[in-house]
Amino acid sequence: MSYAGPDFEPPQPRRFRRGPLTVALAALVPGALLGWLVYATVGGSGDGGARDRASTSASAAPTAPTGPGEPTDDGKGPSPAPTASAPAASGPLKGKVVVIDPGHNPGNFRHPGEINRPVDIGTNRKECDTTGTSTDDGYTEARFTLDVAHRMRTLLREQGATVKLTQDGDRPYGPCVDERARIGNEAKADAVVSIHADGSGAGNRGFHVILPGSVRAGAADTRAIVAPSRDLGERVAGRFVAVTGSAPSNYVGDGTGLVTRKDLGGLNLSTVPKVFIECGNMRDSKDAALLTSGAWRQKAAQGISEGIVSFLRG
Ligand code: ZN
Repeated sequence: MSYAGPDFEPPQPRRFRRGPLTVALAALVPGALLGWLVYATVGGSGDGGARDRASTSASAAPTAPTGPGEPTDDGKGPSPAPTASAPAASGPLKGKVVVIDPGHNPGNFRHPGEINRPVDIGTNRKECDTTGTSTDDGYTEARFTLDVAHRMRTLLREQGATVKLTQDGDRPYGPCVDERARIGNEAKADAVVSIHADGSGAGNRGFHVILPGSVRAGAADTRAIVAPSRDLGERVAGRFVAVTGSAPSNYVGDGTGLVTRKDLGGLNLSTVPKVFIECGNMRDSKDAALLTSGAWRQKAAQGISEGIVSFLRG
């Protein structure tokens, strides 16, 4: 996704340190329940920002003695092989359904007619889907979102969850945003997270989580999911900071890493708790260096997954 708008203020670390994210993070750290932080103590992103502040909390969590193989930076994998560990029959998330929505589709570029077709999102009509953005070097958002989704699927299955993807590069384009919402609804998902990376101006950095606003129009009625989605989003943001060391966006969200929107069909049409996460800005060279790193994507997947686990365990 990308935003058009005025320049935003530069990062304000002090506000972040005292902001709601810090509170959320502090509340969650004692629950550092998972032994997934195999990457959390590994530096190397080159992102000084929040890393130092987050490291204290992150270091309180145990590190796992084993983990997926060292990911490569080519975007092809190993994306911890789905078959490497069979879906757990038990685990803390047994009986829970998580839907991961990898934003866009690598094939969307070849199907402009299909993806530009308007669909009804309740509040208005919007294009079926979009191509997404890419880094200046051509690493596409669609490749990024699928890779992170695969890593999340592995992590969440290890916790016993039933995991479904809205697309797995297994269809020529899409699905449309209304169908993406419907997949989560029909799965009766306990949580849905849509994975994205932004396409904003150079210098705009950091992640943000997008929460559904309260909407009631046509087929859209988000009133029942606004509160649980905010809870989910705050937990995802808190764990994302802790594990990746990335700072909240310096261009939207006023330093909180949280943004509420009413214009996204994927949120408006959801009847189950759902958030989007923009993991960074592909058009900023420093953020792009992170987004194109397999090791960093593993951290991103881990942070998002831990937020989901925290939400589902309550
Ligand atoms: Zn996107």
